[in-house]
Amino acid sequence: MVISSKLPKVGTTIFTVMSKLASDCGAINLSQGFPGFDCDPLLLELVNKYMKAGFNQYAPMSGVPVLRERIAEKTKLVHGVDLDSESEVTVVSGATEALYAAVAAVVRKGDEVILFDPAYDCYAPAVELNGGIPVFVALSLPDFSMNWEKVKAAISKKTRLIMVNTPHNPSGYVWTQQDLDSLAELVQDTDILIVSDEVYEHITFDGRVHLSLLTHPLLKERTFVCGSFGKTFHVTGWKIGYCLAPAYLSAEFRKIHQFLTFSTATPLQYALAEYLSEPTRYFCLPDFYQKKRDLFCEGLSKTPFKFTPAQGSFFQMVSYGHLTRESDYDLSVRLTKKIGVASIPVSVFFSDKIDHKILRFCFAKDDSELNVALDSLVEMKL
Ligand code: PMP
Ligand code: GLN
Repeated sequence: MVISSKLPKVGTTIFTVMSKLASDCGAINLSQGFPGFDCDPLLLELVNKYMKAGFNQYAPMSGVPVLRERIAEKTKLVHGVDLDSESEVTVVSGATEALYAAVAAVVRKGDEVILFDPAYDCYAPAVELNGGIPVFVALSLPDFSMNWEKVKAAISKKTRLIMVNTPHNPSGYVWTQQDLDSLAELVQDTDILIVSDEVYEHITFDGRVHLSLLTHPLLKERTFVCGSFGKTFHVTGWKIGYCLAPAYLSAEFRKIHQFLTFSTATPLQYALAEYLSEPTRYFCLPDFYQKKRDLFCEGLSKTPFKFTPAQGSFFQMVSYGHLTRESDYDLSVRLTKKIGVASIPVSVFFSDKIDHKILRFCFAKDDSELNVALDSLVEMKL
């Protein structure tokens, strides 16, 4: 039987492709974004504790109350924002689920959704599967900052949603207060809603502060903020995160969430609730990752690549267009096979797959692994 694909242009994600290639070649995998080290052993003990204590059946659909309360407390502590844990916080099975459920909750057939180009790979398919039309607005290279004139020009009567990502994957660009104010000004007299992907909320560098869209009163009342414990506590394989949104949006979000996954692994929720009681466990993250970014950039400065140190996230981009005309995909495959270092070709994040000769490396790895990769990159012949 032949079926007509709902996503005809979509294949296997580049993250899966490059991680498999890295594993087949025995290469150091700086492609897919996940930590190369384990989480705090205490977190494992806590999961174990709750599993053994019998917390193994379905959790409440919106998340166990104690975790929702801890998330609200964290939001107050980090951003100074009050949330009602009962009606404004929903626990989900990873930010990917939150992003999909938020889009599905509000996008109808024919609605336009503004996406910034390049964007993380799951946004456009989520929009299309719900009948929406992605409208891409180019970020300004080389720093991938916002161009608010272009955003303004892209807004139409059909615009339903704008999808934001700060700190940005793959560029690491971190939104400024000016960015928040510009967005607020553009949407204030409209019924445009916002989805804000803030999974790297705790990974910013050089004293930069992550400004959640929740901190802007005008944006807070129309935004779904999506977060991920996978990124914050080095447990990407647990697929657990949250959606923060005003009650009227959370109610619609939960209608989708209850039919996508219904609820999220119970012992993980109790363990994370207990673990969150000590704020230094997330406040330590900028320092922890700054050391890795600095180590990686220090090594990169001995290579012929050009780069500007990332402002946030655990990714570092490098440009190589002055060295070779080889496509970014070919180069990342060649570096994986020849020198044993896997990266992501940044063209995959662009809607038209335009090749700006940029590679993305993930530096969330043990220093020893980063040093081996850097030695190989320093010695490589392009
Ligand atoms: N958004 C961005 C920008 C990401 O980089 C990722 C992936 N790691 C996700 C969402 C997905 O997060 P999760 O693993 O919690 O689904
Ligand atoms: N977010 C990760 C990245 O950007 C990948 C997660 C995934 O494979 N879906 O590399």
